[in-house]
Amino acid sequence: MTEIRNDWTREEIASIYNRPVLELIYEGATVHREFHDPSEVQVCTLLSVKTGGCPEDCAYCPQAARYHTGVQVHKLMEVDEVLDRAKEAKEAGSTRFCMGAAWREVRDNRDFDKVIAMVKGVNQLGMEVCCTLGMLTHDQAVKLKEAGLYAYNHNLDTSEEFYEDIITTRTYEDRLQTLDNVRKARISVCSGGIIGMGEREEDRIGMLHTLATLPEHPESVPVNALVPVEGTPLENQPRVSVWEMVRMIATARIIMPKAMVRLSAGRVRMTLEEQALCFLAGANSIFAGDKLLTTPNPGVVQDKEMFQVLQLRPRSQAIKNADPV
Ligand code: SF4
Repeated sequence: MTEIRNDWTREEIASIYNRPVLELIYEGATVHREFHDPSEVQVCTLLSVKTGGCPEDCAYCPQAARYHTGVQVHKLMEVDEVLDRAKEAKEAGSTRFCMGAAWREVRDNRDFDKVIAMVKGVNQLGMEVCCTLGMLTHDQAVKLKEAGLYAYNHNLDTSEEFYEDIITTRTYEDRLQTLDNVRKARISVCSGGIIGMGEREEDRIGMLHTLATLPEHPESVPVNALVPVEGTPLENQPRVSVWEMVRMIATARIIMPKAMVRLSAGRVRMTLEEQALCFLAGANSIFAGDKLLTTPNPGVVQDKEMFQVLQLRPRSQAIKNADPV
């Protein structure tokens, strides 16, 4: 039985990450089978409920107000509209609905009250409800938990060492504090990162090390490949190879065996065969719908075909209530 460990060293993680890739995939697949049903993939939907105009400077993000990317700024959506979108997502097979707002942090104002109403409504649909709203205090996390929030996403993005090359408007410590606030409110933690931003392999390993040595592993680890957007500082970054994605996914799977490892942004540029390798390496979730916040994503029909060809099943039930958080 694979042991759940929170005392990984960077060297141990590096030696996993750098294994011959086919060995690494085999080990990821083996651990995956021990903890998860390999024929099931959770389908999630991510909706941007407030788009653009963000004061932060995340170098990859088309929603930062300071970059000229053509993203249309949109104020917070109405609660009913969001609930309609959640119902559509549920009917299309999603069991997790994540609402993203381009905010630096949550403020205690009317918009937060609206988000609380959205969380209550989506929770009543029986879906796992997740939010990604920027930095969050402990009190705000408690309010969201009381409204029925199941999970909160706050990515580390990259290693502590590379972080300042990507974001200068808040610190790595701020991010860890938000994760701690979320955890202490007994909300399931979703945190991962992005590769292909110009980081070194050591940074990828460093980010995985930070996640895997938190007092409790995140229940959800999104692995994103940068989708460069014109107008952002990272617009000319070269595409990461599937082998780099596979190394990240398999390593995350091996060191955080219980987590849902989510094959997130960047799928739009992957073939079906490349995505199959990611599932084999241990990914067990995707985001559905033709947009991931503001960047392109494969359409629902394309994903249905992929599930058929690979003989995968979308997970039919939300896991909330089954997960001790
Ligand atoms: S990633 Fe989030 S915090 Fe950073 S600029 Fe984009 S919307 Fe703002």
